[in-house]
Amino acid sequence: MAEDKHWRCTECGMLHIGAEPPDVCEDCLAPKGAFVLVEEEVEEETTKTVTQ
Ligand SMILES: [Zn+2]
Repeated sequence: MAEDKHWRCTECGMLHIGAEPPDVCEDCLAPKGAFVLVEEEVEEETTKTVTQ
């Protein structure tokens, strides 16, 4: 089972999708350690209304 996680390069902001970050950033050649895991559904804003 492949997990599609989102990794963001902290150097250039490139987004990588995969089970784990790449060895080096394809864009700025930053090391794997420069990638941080991005939580999914991060675009969802906290505008939940509980009206019925
Ligand atoms: Zn980069």
